[in-house]
Amino acid sequence: MSVPDLEFSPADMRAMADAVARRAVDHLASLPAQPISGDVRAEALCRAMREPAPEHGRPLEPLLDQLFEEYIPRSFTSVGPGYLAYIPGGGVYPAALADFIADTTNRYTGVWQAAPALVQLEANALDWLRDWMGFPNGTRGLFTPGGSMATFNGILCARERHLGVDIRRGVVYTSDQAHHSVLKSAKLAGIMPDRVRALPCDAAFRLPVDELRAAIARDRAAGLLPFAVVSSAGTTNTGAVDRLEAIADACAAEGLWHHVDGAYGAFFNLCEDVRPVLKGIERADSLTLDPHKGMFLPYGTGALLVRDGAALRAAHEATADYLPAMPHPDEFYDPSQHGPELSRGFPGLRVWLSVKMYGAAAYRAAIAEKRALALEACRRISALRGIVIDAPPELSLFAFHVSWPGATLAEEDAATRALMERTTARGRVMITGAVARGRYLGRVCVLSFRTHARQIDALVEDVGKALEDVRG
Ligand SMILES: *Cc1c(COP(=O)(O)O)cnc(C)c1O
Repeated sequence: MSVPDLEFSPADMRAMADAVARRAVDHLASLPAQPISGDVRAEALCRAMREPAPEHGRPLEPLLDQLFEEYIPRSFTSVGPGYLAYIPGGGVYPAALADFIADTTNRYTGVWQAAPALVQLEANALDWLRDWMGFPNGTRGLFTPGGSMATFNGILCARERHLGVDIRRGVVYTSDQAHHSVLKSAKLAGIMPDRVRALPCDAAFRLPVDELRAAIARDRAAGLLPFAVVSSAGTTNTGAVDRLEAIADACAAEGLWHHVDGAYGAFFNLCEDVRPVLKGIERADSLTLDPHKGMFLPYGTGALLVRDGAALRAAHEATADYLPAMPHPDEFYDPSQHGPELSRGFPGLRVWLSVKMYGAAAYRAAIAEKRALALEACRRISALRGIVIDAPPELSLFAFHVSWPGATLAEEDAATRALMERTTARGRVMITGAVARGRYLGRVCVLSFRTHARQIDALVEDVGKALEDVRG
């Protein structure tokens, strides 16, 4: 039997790319008409899908039929304009083009020598993030698969810098509103859950700074080594922004590393009028960003910035006999010397191409629009009878609950839960809730680049109708 050729002819490759592009673009064009959630009760379907690897290949078209007609619709329409649940992602088209280029050209960007100009594009993209966040020259960064991995690398830097090999006594501080990835990241970095202090938040869902200092003193007195604080620039539950400036002061006074989780909120720093809310972010030792949220990229791109780039390098640099030595380590960026991965995709290209094609001004305007939409949505929803706002939008997320005279907390929780479900069941917008400070809260997060004023109209209308149902 002859060995099959895995390469396709140029004509076949063009035809297949055309077929994929046609489906993908049709899919995007139909987004506004798609239900906000497909039928995700899919246990039977998933069981029926299990199969051994096929012995012989099939043509592309029937596989695309399956994907686009059967599987893709069985999901939350998280790319749709009405997606106001969790923290919305994005999926801008330039990023998909960049991924296609990165995957077809498949150059090696793990080490600088193998593709210096391509790595420079990635370094540029990291420098743009640095500038937008007000970080100084000397900052180095890393593109990661998401915010969780950025936080992991941030805590790792802090641990290396402050604890050396004595890691068991090290203590990390955060609030009970921090994203659960903080605890996971700490554990990955060798800091076990009994050394992570999740302090109860204040009435505005923020990390309490006085309690922070008291907890640090207690741990020091007990012979432990406080070394890092992880604060939130926009929590997932209510969008709360910790008092970053006060925490930066406390960290400076106590000699602790300050990591800021900006996975949801940091890109609002692009907007001049929101910068006071995030004041202090520019003083962080390290910062988690999620371009797949605030820059509207498809899933798969987080980023870490470390103010003292040498600390990031120190945590990851390594040599091997089979790797070329970097000629100018201070001047040029070498991804594998700043992160845990060696071979990897080329995440910088999707950031670079998106910013080059849109320009920073378009990003600023889009982020400002999301905030304005959230303010408008909150204003109109707060006017509905029986709605209490628990957290107004500091950025583009707000939280609320249903209330009426004489109701118990359990009754209000049940009503708020029902309100979220009934609103989403109407099919135009999807919203989800969260429990914070002992209460179930409804929440709205505006962050999809496809969300505009008409989705806010739909949201207010559908919440209003669902509210009548819940009350009736
Ligand atoms: C999304 C999010 C994370 C986790 O980021 P991933 O990209 O999902 O890994 C962490 N913190 C906050 C505040 C988030 O919104």
